[in-house]
Amino acid sequence: MGVQNPLTLQELASQTLVRDEALTMSFLEKLPPGLFPTLFKEACTGSHTKLVRAMVAVWPFPCLPMWTLMKTPDLETFHAVLDGVDMRLTGEFQPRFLMTPLKTLSITGYQISQSDLDFFPCCQSLFQLKHLDLRGVVLQDFDLMPLRGLLEKVADTLKTLDLLGCRMEDSQVNVLLPALRQCSRLRYVNFYNNDFSMAILKDLFQHTVNWSKMKVEKYPAPLECYDDLTHLFKERFPHLCQDLVDTLRTVRQPKNISFATLNCHTCDECFVYDQVSRLCGCWE
Ligand SMILES: [Zn+2]
Repeated sequence: MGVQNPLTLQELASQTLVRDEALTMSFLEKLPPGLFPTLFKEACTGSHTKLVRAMVAVWPFPCLPMWTLMKTPDLETFHAVLDGVDMRLTGEFQPRFLMTPLKTLSITGYQISQSDLDFFPCCQSLFQLKHLDLRGVVLQDFDLMPLRGLLEKVADTLKTLDLLGCRMEDSQVNVLLPALRQCSRLRYVNFYNNDFSMAILKDLFQHTVNWSKMKVEKYPAPLECYDDLTHLFKERFPHLCQDLVDTLRTVRQPKNISFATLNCHTCDECFVYDQVSRLCGCWE
């Protein structure tokens, strides 16, 4: 028999608290903020949606740990989180905590629905976001007008935007361009693992004239680098990337720019071009 790690006091307290949702909700504002992360995890794991909703509504920290949801990818719980965010805005749940607008929204690797996305531009608590992280959230085939709406709302605050692996296509990033143009405080963007053509990348660069604070920018290798089976044309890759860098330089001077390919079919590593192209071990 294996030896189980003893539960921490916080875990024990949280397990007790989730057993009586109604009672716990009645004194949420009296709980020490330090207990919130453990209790939130417990509430998500057990799909205690009412408690999840109430906790988000009075969340005492500027960052909400959405990764907690990844262990129990339950749509109802996710909706409860979004409802809670909305309650912060409408003041439906009255706490003693200060209503803190969220500074970071991180939903990595979690599949959301179109209706979840539609909710974003209506959530006032999100309107002062500094960091938006949707890594691995597949947005292919989604209508991205709601994401554009959110980006327009946070254009004056947003510093980092991570859309790695969202599998967006040209027509979708085209929808986002007017909003991206307004995000003048951005200092980090990551578009690796999206399906962009040369044309849309050049168009995107034309919309980045206001990105004067940009420090690190990451783009996917353009689709023209691959054959029909997504095998990379090794010689074409650095050539096309340099063409893109030259295009961007007519708009502004990038500090740290790189392009990455899809993962190699053989070694599962990607190729990175950051002025000097780095190839995976298979080519060396
Ligand atoms: Zn390789």
